[in-house]
Amino acid sequence: MPQLADRMSTLQPSAIIRMAQKAADLKASGQKIASLSIGVPGFTPPEYVYEAALKAVKADSGEYLPGRGSKGLLEAFIKTQAAKGFIYGMAEVCAQPGGKGALFNLLLALVNPGDRVLIPAPYWASYPEMAKLVGGVPVTPYAGPENNYKLTAEQLSAQLGDDVTVLIFNSPSNPTGMVYSRAELEGIAAVLRKHPDLWIISDDIYDHLIFSGEQRATHLLDVAPDLKDRLIIVQSISKTYGMPGWRVGLVAGPKPVVSALVDMASQSFTNLPAVPMAAAEAALNGPLDFLAPQLGRLQKHRDLTLAALKKLGLECPTPQGAFYVFPNIKNALGKTSAGGAVIKTDEDFCTALLAEQQVAAVPGGAFGDKHAIRLSYAGKEPDLLAGLEGLTKFVTSLK
Ligand code: PLP
Repeated sequence: MPQLADRMSTLQPSAIIRMAQKAADLKASGQKIASLSIGVPGFTPPEYVYEAALKAVKADSGEYLPGRGSKGLLEAFIKTQAAKGFIYGMAEVCAQPGGKGALFNLLLALVNPGDRVLIPAPYWASYPEMAKLVGGVPVTPYAGPENNYKLTAEQLSAQLGDDVTVLIFNSPSNPTGMVYSRAELEGIAAVLRKHPDLWIISDDIYDHLIFSGEQRATHLLDVAPDLKDRLIIVQSISKTYGMPGWRVGLVAGPKPVVSALVDMASQSFTNLPAVPMAAAEAALNGPLDFLAPQLGRLQKHRDLTLAALKKLGLECPTPQGAFYVFPNIKNALGKTSAGGAVIKTDEDFCTALLAEQQVAAVPGGAFGDKHAIRLSYAGKEPDLLAGLEGLTKFVTSLK
């Protein structure tokens, strides 16, 4: 048989999707599974979003659409960015197949083979794999729980050199839920100013999901608007609007970068489908008031989860955003479960937790920290409570 390309030999498929699939398969076979693995927000968008989608179905001509994205969607996106104080024109924005597609295509456009891509760890599991797929070399400086999982300006400075092409910055963070403060961002920005040839990808997809009561997380551009000519914003309707399956991501950034994405679209996926774009347009044009009760629910879930982890002695800094916790499990490593599994690694921990207590979680190694696991607490409350109960039984049984 012919061979796959060399780049496939190192590709790690998403551990998040693998775990979620395992849980779904077990559910389909009749088992009751508490799924704390995949990052779905646990709510659906307001009714007018569905109405806009239905209208688009009926109005659709079936023709090819603009590769940059529909005019209505892009205008709505420009408005949401302007409301944050980030001003972009039509030539500086485009739609992409999800935030994930946007990140992958951006790396393809910005990274030459052998270039280093700086990805602070813990990181979202797909960043390093995407960097490798486009021929880059991921560099992953680590900030631990004692540092609230946040990279310091000094750590950043130590990693930056001529061979680093792109920094991927994500606040609020998946998997830790950490949010960089204004002072921390000022420190980071001061370092970035010393490296004018570095692209900055700011993955903002959780920016409205914060628990401080503010409208959104503080952004690098708030403290350093001068970085705008080399900073690229990645946004998505997945998390804020409860629409992960609709696959609409958005990019705002310097014209040449956005033009590159549009040119790539013309030779790869052509355009996003009309109906998801119409739904996304309606979501972005609508008010964000539906989020307040959801944030209340998420905060309650976070606190329930933290209380359970505390009782178990699993160290976990308090997340200020997104909907994940990233507890440290090093105290559990080396022990044996009630079912006789020796827990040597984060993978062993998650495998035994699923087999013995039917709770799905994701091994921290997928996010650059083998001493942790990631739990998503955004699902329905009974599911979360069952998951926490299973986790408690599992951890307390370890000998
Ligand atoms: N970035 C981060 C940090 C994420 O957690 C995710 C999804 O989980 C994405 C990007 C991609 O989101 P989507 O492709 O659904 O827009």
